[in-house]
Order: sequence, then structure tokens, then C-alpha cells
Amino acid sequence: MQARYFAIRDYPRGMPPRELFELHSQTLPELGEDEVRIRNTWLSVDPYMRGRMSGMRTYIAPFELDAPLEGAAIGEVIESRHSRFKSGDKVRHMAGWRDIAQLKGDVLEPLPDMEVPEQAYLGVLGMPGMTAWTGLNRIANLREGDNVLVSAASGAVGSLAVQLAKATGGTVVGIAGAADKLEWLEEHDIRAVSYRNKDARQLSADLEEACPEGFDVYFENVGGACLEAALNRLKVGARIAVCGFISRYNDEAQQQGPGNLSNLLIKRARMQGFIVFDHWTEYPHFLEEVGPRVAQGEIDYEETIEEGLERTPDAFLKLFEGANRGKMLVRL
Ligand code: NDP
Repeated sequence: MQARYFAIRDYPRGMPPRELFELHSQTLPELGEDEVRIRNTWLSVDPYMRGRMSGMRTYIAPFELDAPLEGAAIGEVIESRHSRFKSGDKVRHMAGWRDIAQLKGDVLEPLPDMEVPEQAYLGVLGMPGMTAWTGLNRIANLREGDNVLVSAASGAVGSLAVQLAKATGGTVVGIAGAADKLEWLEEHDIRAVSYRNKDARQLSADLEEACPEGFDVYFENVGGACLEAALNRLKVGARIAVCGFISRYNDEAQQQGPGNLSNLLIKRARMQGFIVFDHWTEYPHFLEEVGPRVAQGEIDYEETIEEGLERTPDAFLKLFEGANRGKMLVRL
């Protein structure tokens, strides 16, 4: 059987060019013992993949050049030599960026049995959803009545973070780019602030207008001016969950950090980074808490879908243009 996959031939500097991604074809070997063959139906593209294209080890190894790229995917088993899986089973795994995956059965996760579309396990009930829940509950220690600020607030992580925060009763403010994203936030009773064409001073002023008392929690997805503005608007004892710095992922040289870090001292605030995979043993707990709320429509989630394996690099690159609302996905 033939499989197609994307690989990169170089580690890019700055914004990766589209030509970096090459589509290859290979003939798959016969299934080995305990192996399973899967026809992928949905692929996830995520900002963290940019770090794996840097050529350097971060908290995870870089992608290998000219080898199939990796990422979360959902698919259907089409052939199995593993006792736990049979044809027709739906599974989640990390062999994305390709149409057919062939893997040892013990790295596959059967999809949980909930009344949600299967691709939800790549978004709101997958790694991004788990990230929102972990950042708020385990890193920022969200409490009743907290005022919460979230950047990239209409994306996969941010859109769940604002809704979980809203349920605790304080003022929730979301920072986002395009007008339709701001509207989505306002429809969900979240105060929306655009960061476009603003420096940190202007953004601070807009955050003050949106929530004059300041913030107990900042869920950081972006860095740069958003972080600097948020640092100006902390309440005493504030907690910052550092989830991501997407505005910096394509920087060619290291940039200067915000000049107002002294606010951490003045406000006796805590700032802590986290990687969701370190908390994965809590995934069943997250599913139990958030899954039914998604299934019952109490939590809203959006998807931006590109069609076909060939569009996978385009979907990935669009994350850095803000072209997605909610989870960015590729449907095969
Ligand atoms: P999103 O769905 O939020 O997509 C990325 C969004 O980031 C874009 O839609 C855009 O929204 C915004 N963005 C892109 N470039 C910039 C920029 N230069 N300045 C400001 N905003 C920008 O992605 P995810 O929800 O998957 O990820 C959100 C963040 O969480 C990322 O930083 C990611 O790396 C991080 N993350 C961290 C994890 C962890 O374990 N720590 C796990 C998963 C994600 P807009 O239109 O509003 O600009």
C-alpha cells in the first residue's frame, strides 16, 4: 500500500516558506507483529510544531529532516495485527502529516465514547483543551470570582480558557486579532480587546478600560506587547500561566523581554511556565469534567478546516497569520 507524508528538507529561520514542505510517497512494508495500519481522517496542526522545526532540542526533540513529520491525528484502523485493535476502530495517535499511518498498537489511543464529533479529540477535548484546563486549574490556581485575561483568546486553547474562566464568575477579557474573533468573544459575554496595531501602552489602556480593577490571572499565549500590557494590569497576588509565546516563534534573533518585569515584584505576582504533556495523567479527569459540558453544548467550540493532505502546510502556516478561529484542522 502507498502512503503519502510531508517532510521538511531544512530547518527554517523566520517564517517557514511554503516550499519547505515536501510531499513524499512510500510503499508501506507488510504489517509486522503488533502493528496496526490506520487511514487518517483528521490531522492537527499546532503552533508548537514550529519549535520542532528549529533544529534544536527544546522540551521535545526537533523533527528529523526528510523524515515524516509528526503530530496528533485521528483515523480508522484498516488492518491490525494487534490484539486490542480491529478494522473499523477509531484511534488517536501522533503519526500526523500523512494519509496512512503504520504503528505499533501500544502507541494508539482508542477514542473515548462521548457524543461529540471525532475531531473534537484533537481540539476542545484533546491536547489544546487539556492545555486550557491545566493552565487555569493547575498553574494559575483559578478561584471563584477571579478576573482573568487570556491572549489568543479565540484560538484552540484560548477559546476554552475564556469559557472555563467565565464559569468561575469574575470578569473575563480576551485579546484577539480580527473583528470576527472579537465578535465571537463578545457573543460569549467575554470582554474583547484587539491587539492589532497597538503598542503595549495602548493595549494596557484598553485592558484598563475593559477591566479597571485589574487581573488575578493572566493566561499567556502570545508574549511581546500582550505580556508587557498584562504585566501593567496585574492585581496583588496575580498568577500568570505561561502557556505559549506565539508572537516570538518566527523571530530570527532573540528579542528583548518586557521592561516592566518589576511589576511581578510590586504585585507579589507569580509567573510559571508549563508543558501540558507533563500533566497528561490528569487527562481522564479533564475529560470527565469538560467532556459532558461539550457534549451538552454548554461549551462552544469552533473549527477552521482545510481540506486534503496537500493543504496541511498551508493550515499550519495560517496559524501564524491568525487565519483560524478555534482549532485549525485538516480533513482527509
Ligand atoms: P491558536 O488556535 O490560538 O492559533 C494561533 C493564534 O495565535 C492565531 O489564530 C492568532 O490569533 C494568534 N497569533 C498568531 N501570531 C500572533 C502574533 N504575532 N501576535 C499575536 N497573536 C498571534 O493556537 P493554539 O490554541 O493551539 O495555541 C495557543 C498558544 O498555546 C500557542 O502559543 C501555543 O504554542 C501554546 N500551547 C502551549 C502548550 C503547552 O503545553 N504549554 C500546548 C498547546 C499550545 P489572532 O488572530 O488573535 O492574532
